[in-house]
Amino acid sequence: MSYVSGLKCRECGKEREKAPIHVCELCFGPLEVVYDYEKIGKDLTKNKIQSRAPNMWRYRELLPIDGEPTVGRQVGFTPLRRADRLAKVLGIKELYIKNDAVNYPTLSFKDRVVSVALSKAREFGFKVVACASTGNLANSVAALAAAADLHSFVFIPYDLEATKVLGTMIYGTNLVGIKGTYDEVNRLCSEIAGKYNWAFVNINMRAFYAEGSKSMGYEIAEQLGWKIPQHIVVPMASGSLLTKIHKSFYELEQLGFISSSSTKMYGAQATGCAPISTCVKENQDFFKPVKPNTIAKSLAIGNPADGYYAAKAIKQTGGWSEDVSDDEIIDAIRLLAETEGVFAETAGGVTLGCAQKLIKDGRIPLDESLVICITGNGLKTQEAVVHKLDKPPIIQPSLKAFEELYEANKKS
Ligand SMILES: *Cc1c(COP(=O)(O)O)cnc(C)c1O
Ligand SMILES: [Zn+2]
Repeated sequence: MSYVSGLKCRECGKEREKAPIHVCELCFGPLEVVYDYEKIGKDLTKNKIQSRAPNMWRYRELLPIDGEPTVGRQVGFTPLRRADRLAKVLGIKELYIKNDAVNYPTLSFKDRVVSVALSKAREFGFKVVACASTGNLANSVAALAAAADLHSFVFIPYDLEATKVLGTMIYGTNLVGIKGTYDEVNRLCSEIAGKYNWAFVNINMRAFYAEGSKSMGYEIAEQLGWKIPQHIVVPMASGSLLTKIHKSFYELEQLGFISSSSTKMYGAQATGCAPISTCVKENQDFFKPVKPNTIAKSLAIGNPADGYYAAKAIKQTGGWSEDVSDDEIIDAIRLLAETEGVFAETAGGVTLGCAQKLIKDGRIPLDESLVICITGNGLKTQEAVVHKLDKPPIIQPSLKAFEELYEANKKS
């Protein structure tokens, strides 16, 4: 029951069989999963999808595993909600939040990619899985590997948020902090992957792993009644999520599930780590790697693996890219919480902050439909906002004490 015919180099087009390999052996280009869309078109219908359980595997024909999923079977189908209170503040007519801050089990969109990578790793017969992570991937690999009885190794920059470290350790994984940036962690992991026979989800499993992100795009289309928005703002670290949402809309158009895949894609980054956004804004063909310095640690990749393809998708669709300062990130986190009751992590502040700029600059028109992708949960990056909020008053357990407080606050 496989719809995957093999792998193909994105650069030279050389095809090869499904295998846990990282790059093209001819040109070192990145590899892409190839599907038999004709066969998928015969077997898959909207009705069939809608009759299945509400998780990302309802699109399983479009995901790169051969059998049934064995890891993360509950992941996905997170809420897509109209956000009228926030829309009013932004001055825009039709706004939706796709909310992966409540994805299960580890409260970020990474559960999508990891459930695919680990299901595939099992099919290949791996017993040990591993990753290089900016935080959320670490949480997800540790949790899903634990539940799947896979041994795991997780490598992170040593100075990540406390909750991301604790939220990895708790699952009993082998966590290693590296004195360096994510890009240095990733380079080290490529060397480790060359030496040990492990399934590194974002190295030798990357072609399969990355396909999991498409599910976010399928869900958005289905949840809008098999329509896609005119505009979508997506946060970018490696640039993979944006590239794959773009691909998902294109595939749905190919299958005739939506009438056109004309959504304009907008990439969001933190100013302290904006190689892709700078490349788009300066109309360069290639991005320049940077050394990250931002509170949005989950997006702090200075040399993004899919940066070139993300910039290309943005330009192709007529979208744009923006970036925001740390203060703007915090303001946007608070705005989202106060208007919609959604507590996003720093990446969510990046997404909303950039959406605000794009609307203000007239890049996203006020009377067209917009989806913003919230990809992680604010409880995991509390240190970004803790110093910005007042401490709550503490009083004695008496009515008199409360009345005094209430009257004092009324006066001020
Ligand atoms: C990893 C991550 C992203 C972006 O991932 P890509 O590498 O661009 O696919 C976005 N938001 C959060 C919260 C993340 O953890
Ligand atoms: Zn090649």
